[in-house]
Amino acid sequence: MIKRPDIKCKYCNSESMIPIIYGYPSKEMLYLNSLNLLELGGCVLEGDEPYWKCLACQKTIKINTEKEERLYFKYLKYLEKSYIQIIEQ
Ligand SMILES: [Zn+2]
Repeated sequence: MIKRPDIKCKYCNSESMIPIIYGYPSKEMLYLNSLNLLELGGCVLEGDEPYWKCLACQKTIKINTEKEERLYFKYLKYLEKSYIQIIEQ
């Protein structure tokens, strides 16, 4: 069971948040996307992208603080580790 990140939606207060990842998707990213664990944001970056998506209300959230940024990268690492565990089962 994969934990959701420790962040709540500021619009609907849901805890069903997933990270949005940019760039050409790797096979890991595609697989995690198929499990609804991350959102693919595409390859075009304009510098003002949101980094979280709420599965409950579908709104996206931008990162505003360093703490939120650390949480984002920490959660990506966690997903990467979880992916390895899933495929080794
Ligand atoms: Zn929401």
